[in-house]
Amino acid sequence: MKIIFYGTRGSIPVADRDFIQVGGNTSCVLVIFNSGEIAILDAGTGIRKLGHDLLEDKEKTKGEIFIGLSHTHWDHIQGFPFFKPAYDPGQKLIISLCGRQKHARDLSSIFAAQMQRDYFPVSFDNLQANIEFFEADTEVWHTQSGAAITAAEHGHPGGAWSYRIEEQGKILVYCTDIEHGAGIDPNVVRFSKDADLLIHDAQYTSEELKSKVGWGHSSWDQAIEVADRAGVRQLALFHHDPEHSDAFLFELEKKYQQHHANIFLALETMSITL
Ligand SMILES: [Zn+2]
Ligand SMILES: [Zn+2]
Repeated sequence: MKIIFYGTRGSIPVADRDFIQVGGNTSCVLVIFNSGEIAILDAGTGIRKLGHDLLEDKEKTKGEIFIGLSHTHWDHIQGFPFFKPAYDPGQKLIISLCGRQKHARDLSSIFAAQMQRDYFPVSFDNLQANIEFFEADTEVWHTQSGAAITAAEHGHPGGAWSYRIEEQGKILVYCTDIEHGAGIDPNVVRFSKDADLLIHDAQYTSEELKSKVGWGHSSWDQAIEVADRAGVRQLALFHHDPEHSDAFLFELEKKYQQHHANIFLALETMSITL
């Protein structure tokens, strides 16, 4: 499978000149399966460009598109009204509805809320795609060719979900907006076990994390510890703090790579084949 990052920034998009190399758009990752089917992880502002790219290659949007949301904080859904395939009557979208059982919130009403007239000129009802919702945390989603997508809840204010995607023996785990609390959450280690690529929240340095307790995020050191304990092959550090410039992040990456050869910054437009 191939993974392309369309949004790697956390919390809010940034357009400042010194931040563009790492990327300014919020969470959005495209997964292209060997079968040609696709899945999208989160609908942050990066999904706008992703939608344009998909429409340029109609082959890619022929089947269903699975959209797995980690949760519905702004930076993970805000791009959706600008996702052009959602306006295509021939397109089928399957949107994950994790936590419905526990939180009893209807995802369609959350999406509709961000598109109500006070915020956006087009209402959710005007989207012409065939949109279905699916509870990925209670069942395994199988694409038509058999790739498997599962979800598991992790710690974040309001709850958030990790995704594990498996196709032909390759494993991708996406785990963002996670606060481990004291120590590392053993469930996250278990869920990430033997992944070929782990994409993990790394919003803060360990020093910064001390004053961000309860904000719902992880440090670089925590992401690396999860990767080590789970035996993952590669770790992409993700959900970069909007206050961290390119210079700051590249310097940090250089320092960490001296001791951890298999870690790297997730950069907007970067692609990885597993
Ligand atoms: Zn976020
Ligand atoms: Zn969040």
